Amino acid sequence: MDKYDIVIAGGSISGLLTAREVAKKGYSVLVLEEGFEIGTPDHCGGLVSKTALNDLGINTSEKIYDCAINNASIFSPSGKTLEINSKNQQIISVDRRQLDKQAAYQAQKYGAKIIVNSSYKEKTKEGVSTSIGNIDCKILVDCRGVGALVNNNRNGILLSAQYEVYADWIVNGHVEVYFDQIKYPGFFGWIIPSGNGIGKVGVAGKDINTSKTIEEFLKGKGKYSTIRKIFSPIWINGPIKNFVSKDVVTVGDAAGQSKPTTAGGIYSCGMGGIMAGKAIAKYLETNDDFQLMQYQESWYSKFGKEFEKQQLARKVLQKIDNKTVDKIFDMITPEILSEISSKDDFDFHTASIIKLLGVRKSLAAAQNLMGSEIKRLLVG
Ligand SMILES: Cc1cc2nc3c(=O)[nH]c(=O)nc-3n(C[C@H](O)[C@H](O)[C@H](O)COP(=O)(O)OP(=O)(O)OC[C@H]3O[C@@H](n4cnc5c(N)ncnc54)[C@H](O)[C@@H]3O)c2cc1C
Repeated sequence: MDKYDIVIAGGSISGLLTAREVAKKGYSVLVLEEGFEIGTPDHCGGLVSKTALNDLGINTSEKIYDCAINNASIFSPSGKTLEINSKNQQIISVDRRQLDKQAAYQAQKYGAKIIVNSSYKEKTKEGVSTSIGNIDCKILVDCRGVGALVNNNRNGILLSAQYEVYADWIVNGHVEVYFDQIKYPGFFGWIIPSGNGIGKVGVAGKDINTSKTIEEFLKGKGKYSTIRKIFSPIWINGPIKNFVSKDVVTVGDAAGQSKPTTAGGIYSCGMGGIMAGKAIAKYLETNDDFQLMQYQESWYSKFGKEFEKQQLARKVLQKIDNKTVDKIFDMITPEILSEISSKDDFDFHTASIIKLLGVRKSLAAAQNLMGSEIKRLLVG
């Protein structure tokens, strides 16, 4: 029977960065990816900050880089628009398939073994049972993504559809976000360019018919050709309670580590992988459980407070109706937009959300609906 120090279920960003960190310290690592290729299916919009990629140890090579995001238009249900200049945030749109491949390349360089078309089935006493047989290991790392959470709590899951399209209304460097609590309850519709005339168009919301909603969204935009269609669940309930349980360590989307506001997770899930990998390597060196628990500590000390606030912001978004969203848009002044534009907080963005919700009159409009949450969000 094969034997490894750790087996990782899921070969995407969190699994591959965990693999890289553990292999770097000389331990044996096996990554099982059930897809036929690393990076596929690509369900991600690919928006990420340059700082985040730097922290993750990923090079912004030509292969990964699609385009820089210079500005964003945010639309209210009745068509009002806010324009935000995002140059300071140094956000880029990346080819997620290539990004994951770079992480895979790094992991195998340090000695991790990766096998595609193979899946984890269940935990056994000695290790794991998989589609390629039983494998002994000291630790299983669960990086299976949102799918691993489906049985945990269905309330935290929204349905999404994202199409990659060719369309002349997609403008290089320009993101669009559409709020409408009837069409996309609790979330939004989006357009993320990969270049001029090509990009990802998506919708998500509570209990929506994703294919009907996205087709209607696209029809409203104009002519297009679809080159890829992906339907996937997104998790918006924040981190699960325990990242570590005996000899199982959970990382990335499987641990609820993507942002409760936008479901963005390349950074926070990737950092989860790095932190888990470092803690696992220390544990293998010392055999001290305390070292393993440090993973959860480090993740919470970096993202805990921000995610708590994002969860409050999410509760606000879930409760307000289209009329209130429009009222909030009315109250936002050019000064507030310019202040938000000057920020560089893409990865920790509740300060900007608070700025938007903190406008006095919009607060009064929204407060009747959700008093306690908005107060906690604004007070901190
Ligand atoms: C529509 C959409 C748009 C998004 N846009 C953005 C964005 O613009 N920016 C951003 O930062 N984040 C975005 N995200 C979130 C981001 O994609 C995730 O947070 C991130 O991919 C999580 O990485 P992960 O490694 O934890 O899990 P995943 O990327 O979900 O990977 C899990 C992997 O596990 C594999 N797997 C599952 N079960 C098994 C098994 N039993 N055995 C072996 N392998 C298995 C899967 O095939 C998959 O490769 C988006 C998500 C969605 C759904």
